[in-house]
Amino acid sequence: MNFSDLGLSKQILDAIKKANYDSPYPIQIAAIPAILQKKDVLGIAPTGSGKTASYILPILQRLQEKEANKGRMIPILVLVPTRELASQVAEVTENFARFLNRPVKALAVFGGVSINPQMMKIYGTDILVATPGRLLDLLSKNALNLNQVEILVLDEADKVLNMGFKEEVDLILERLPKKRQNILFSATSEESVEGLINEMLHEPVRISA
Ligand code: AMP
Repeated sequence: MNFSDLGLSKQILDAIKKANYDSPYPIQIAAIPAILQKKDVLGIAPTGSGKTASYILPILQRLQEKEANKGRMIPILVLVPTRELASQVAEVTENFARFLNRPVKALAVFGGVSINPQMMKIYGTDILVATPGRLLDLLSKNALNLNQVEILVLDEADKVLNMGFKEEVDLILERLPKKRQNILFSATSEESVEGLINEMLHEPVRISA
């Protein structure tokens, strides 16, 4: 199986080549076509499986079809449990995005650092990668608007719950439009994530790495 069998555009395939990815990992073979088809996806996949590229690549392709963002309306929201993962996802995104014709802006926002520089950087963000608490802080300051989110990714959902962020996630879900695509990744398929899966996903394609 090659990346070219998954429905990706030439531009994205070129970006993958420049990132020196030879062939797709199993999670990517399953998730990329489903996400391109705008389906909800449930991925049970640990770190190291290639899960980040499995959602970032099709999302970048979807963004190529849209105009550049010129405001504080965020089209793609990625929720993550930690600042480390937030930075890592934004970095992976920018690594691919620099090879694309239509520039894509990814921004990581997380707590433990001052909020003002983050507020100033939000304008024009296509992919916002956020920890739940800081995202709520930014919302309460009207630094951004989630009314037009098209794709929501919840990465490491089991860890998000273990860290006690369920209430924050629920508050964020209330701020999102009902009609949207949802992607949830979890390292484990524990019962603890069942509730969130039922709450968030609509007839998901189920994948395990
Ligand atoms: P992740 O599970 O998303 O944290 O990815 C684990 C590591 O695998 C990262 O260093 C990625 O850059 C790398 N990776 C992901 N997909 C591929 C691929 N298809 N070929 C080679 N490396 C990859």
